[in-house]
Amino acid sequence: MHVVLHYAEVALKGRNRPRFEERLLRNAADALRGLAEPRLRRLYGRLLIEVPDSTDFEALGRRLARVYGIAYFARATLAEPTFEAIEQAVDAFTEGRTFRTFGVRARRPEKRHPFTSAELSVRLGRHVERRTGARVDLESPDLWIRVDVLANEAILLHDRMPGPGGMPVGTAGPVVALISGGIDSPVAAALALKRGCELCFAHFHSAPYTSSASQDKVRELVGRLAASNGPSRLYLIPFAELQQTLVRETPAQPRIVLYRRFMLRVAERLGARTRARALVTGESLSQVSSQTLANLDSINRAATLPVLRPLIGMDKDEIVRRARELGTYEISIEPDEDCCSYLMPRRPATWTEPEAIEQVERALDAKGLVEAILERTVEERIEPTHA
Ligand code: ATP
Ligand code: MG
Repeated sequence: MHVVLHYAEVALKGRNRPRFEERLLRNAADALRGLAEPRLRRLYGRLLIEVPDSTDFEALGRRLARVYGIAYFARATLAEPTFEAIEQAVDAFTEGRTFRTFGVRARRPEKRHPFTSAELSVRLGRHVERRTGARVDLESPDLWIRVDVLANEAILLHDRMPGPGGMPVGTAGPVVALISGGIDSPVAAALALKRGCELCFAHFHSAPYTSSASQDKVRELVGRLAASNGPSRLYLIPFAELQQTLVRETPAQPRIVLYRRFMLRVAERLGARTRARALVTGESLSQVSSQTLANLDSINRAATLPVLRPLIGMDKDEIVRRARELGTYEISIEPDEDCCSYLMPRRPATWTEPEAIEQVERALDAKGLVEAILERTVEERIEPTHA
């Protein structure tokens, strides 16, 4: 069985294209691991996958639907690039299908053939009309017959399935995703993946003072995201001792901002191991008290890497819709104990000044606290779980 993958070519600027294609090829092959041993090749602006005929196409489709960079994909029949061979392939394709109207879309991206796409379309149209009695309708036919004629083969595309769009994971660079077990951060991570970031994941927990439920949830969430990211590194970071220190030595009101500043510092240090060029969080402006503009500013200043916040302009219902599509929502709503609610004051500050926060931190040995956390951080490898 052949499957052809198309990507959004507008995104490709000249010399980046081979790198983009190579990476997409590799990611598609990785995504199919365990399902089928695919043979892949690049073919003039598309990728062709060959898998054994016995492969479960639905399962294959579900996996490809998670490979960013794919605009759409379809089962395909390959034929010699001649009228006769293409007609035969079309006959096999139309046989057993019921349709009263059809349309032909022939493309000829390589202009070497003796016939034009229009000639091929007309000829195929007449041929199908004669054989089936169906009528041509180029507006909304019951069946589209799409043929791409390349240098050495013609490709007949069966039903097209939408891909997830975006750029292949790995083409943008390494990034650390701060993932909490909530609804938002997995969606933010997915959006970073969609634009080509390759992620490792950082999760802060307050075990043994809280349950370890958040860690189990995060493993499950990362498994889902790994369907796009590939086998993934997850850092499980014990946060409780730092939290206790902060409770002892700093005022209560800006506590959430202090927690977050330390999270960024630790994430950045972990990111250095994979040469990360950014962090990504699930913050959305003004959603909760820690995400007021002033607090985001105070938090941000603890990081030297850019902090990507793909959800910044989204309402909660938009985020929830995306989480459902991703399949992370059901996992996220499982009960857990978030480390940020551990030792939280009743009325956290919604407005902090960075200078005041820095003043508070001067009383602390921030570097030593970060080192202590890093020493006790556990690294796990999470394999993809496929829907
Ligand atoms: P989420 O649904 O992702 O938990 P949220 O709406 O609950 O987000 P906050 O709790 O303020 O918002 O967290 C904001 C962001 O900070 C999260 O999206 C995540 O990126 C990061 N973050 C919060 N808690 C943790 C944690 N325990 N481990 C790692 N990152 C965290
Ligand atoms: Mg949260």
